[in-house]
Amino acid sequence: MSSAVPQSVTRLVDEFSRLPGIGPKTAARLTYYLLRTSSEQSLALAAALTELVENTRTCSVCCNITESDPCSVCTDDRRNRRVICVVEEPLDVIAIERTATYQGLYHVLHGAINPMEGIGPTELKIEELAQRVGAGHPTEEIIVATNVSLEGDATASYIRQRIKTVSDKVRVTRLARGLPVGGDLEYADTITLLGALEGRREMLD
Ligand SMILES: [Zn+2]
Repeated sequence: MSSAVPQSVTRLVDEFSRLPGIGPKTAARLTYYLLRTSSEQSLALAAALTELVENTRTCSVCCNITESDPCSVCTDDRRNRRVICVVEEPLDVIAIERTATYQGLYHVLHGAINPMEGIGPTELKIEELAQRVGAGHPTEEIIVATNVSLEGDATASYIRQRIKTVSDKVRVTRLARGLPVGGDLEYADTITLLGALEGRREMLD
């Protein structure tokens, strides 16, 4: 940006530009919007960001984002502890909860295996899942709900192999086809997601 732009403005534009889906133009528009609006609104945004960083952590059981550890799902006695649904991102948990049908627990991987971007199994929360299942947890089924993509499929296969090394009693299933290919689970509509959950199949060799 030109030297006519104050440095504090440039800094916020740069920060916005680093967010997914926000290009330089949108970043500048957001920044100038905040300059025009009341200072209360801008300070509320700043306070919300600080609170987000200071008050959230990952659940030590399921690795979802939470303010209390273990999270409200992991500590909910009404949930079915014999089933764990494995998803790539916290937003996928929200998508599955929206179906209002699934009653089991979750495990959030925080990504998918992607060799092109240098993301291997150790960068994900897969070992945490294996430990959970291996530590006498009453798991009977693991539903792998990774995205329908090369990365999601590779991650599902890896998880199945890894789980088989800690327990041969656990059924590893995968959501039925019908979900948008290449799309994130979070964008699937509730009916589609419900159908994919109900039509899940055991992963075989
Ligand atoms: Zn949890």
